[in-house]
Amino acid sequence: MLQRLLVLGSTGSVGDSILDVVARHPDRFLVHGLSAHRRVDKLYQQCLRFRPAIALVTEPQHAIELQAHLLAAGLATEVLCGEDALCEAARACDYDTLVAAIVGAAGLLPTLGAAQAGKKILLANKEALVMSGALFMDTVAQGNATVIPLDSEHNAIFQCLQGCAGDRDGVERLILTASGGPFRTRSLESLAGVTPDQACAHPNWSMGRKISVDCATLMNKGLEVIEAHWLFNLPAQRIQALIHPQSVVHSMVVMRDQSVLAQLGNPDMRMPVAHALAYPQRIESGVEPLDLTRLAGLTFEHPDVQRFPCLGLALQVLAEGGQASAALNAANEVAVEAFLGRRIRFTHIAQVVEQTLQRIDLPGHAGLEAILGLDHQARQLAREQVRVCGAQA
Ligand code: NAD
Ligand code: MG
Repeated sequence: MLQRLLVLGSTGSVGDSILDVVARHPDRFLVHGLSAHRRVDKLYQQCLRFRPAIALVTEPQHAIELQAHLLAAGLATEVLCGEDALCEAARACDYDTLVAAIVGAAGLLPTLGAAQAGKKILLANKEALVMSGALFMDTVAQGNATVIPLDSEHNAIFQCLQGCAGDRDGVERLILTASGGPFRTRSLESLAGVTPDQACAHPNWSMGRKISVDCATLMNKGLEVIEAHWLFNLPAQRIQALIHPQSVVHSMVVMRDQSVLAQLGNPDMRMPVAHALAYPQRIESGVEPLDLTRLAGLTFEHPDVQRFPCLGLALQVLAEGGQASAALNAANEVAVEAFLGRRIRFTHIAQVVEQTLQRIDLPGHAGLEAILGLDHQARQLAREQVRVCGAQA
């Protein structure tokens, strides 16, 4: 039976990895739907190649143009537009597996829709889970959905946890590895002057610009600790982040008996993608084999939260119960966009997030409306803070 895929965010970096693996296995996967925000030309090319039943865009003008081009090319693909269309497509019964590869809060509602509808969800969009934590996991449980993490660290942990054969009391702690990003060895003073292109030049992984900046600030690791907390149901004190510059060990699980299980491989997203697509089977991914004899060494060190305060802020939010996670995420999205647009300095990102967290009013409950309200309020506060930082820069 063909597995029918709805790939949201297909024109991004994760989308590329997904479609690369899918194209290697036409006997297993069928692309039901694809989606894009701005890169409609790329979406058109993907439609020509994979001939999906639906293609989703966010702008009405893009929808009209894309529909015309697809018709002219003789394709029956139906073009749909807007957030409601994304959510409806995610809830519909005409596909099996949602690939949640939209970046940021924009991915939350469609991913929740797929959870309600009991889909298999391959989750790359960590921001959606960070924002909605308990609500997301409750929706998955109630909808009888399945989540398989695509984030390489969480996918590694998912694989390692099979080593305790369901005995979750046998797990002592999780170790999430982090490359340390492009500024791992830079002094705090020199970080104020780094450019967006320098921040996006990740030493080991090729990714979208937002997550690349998150890797450079270590906010990505903070978001990932929160993500691991919800995915694997472990308290913050039992999740550790360690810098591992070689990015060969993708993460580890320490068992009660002090046995440490690790998952290794070359840093290439097609590996977690192939695992998650075929789970519980294994399929060819296109990833270069790992030549252990050519590794110079594997090193691990504690992260420096003085130089990378975003990690500390995320850990603090989780230690305080996680209620402010949606605000942390929203402020970070606003700050990263401002940094990429050269409106604030790299070191302002942490300041914007910190000031937003200090000034936010936390709601008394964690329903969807409260989460969306918190996201909205945090964006406003963060934009004000961006203006303050921008005036100083
Ligand atoms: P990207 O910027 O390369 O792609 C983002 C995708 O989301 C694009 O298809 C874009 O069209 C779509 N998109 C953006 N804004 C949208 C909006 N408002 N509405 C609808 N669609 C929108 O990002 P990426 O690097 O592929 O990352 C995607 C997600 O996966 C992020 O949450 C990221 O944290 C996570 N992730 C990425 C990697 C990686 O290797 N790139 C690894 C782990 C996790
Ligand atoms: Mg990751």
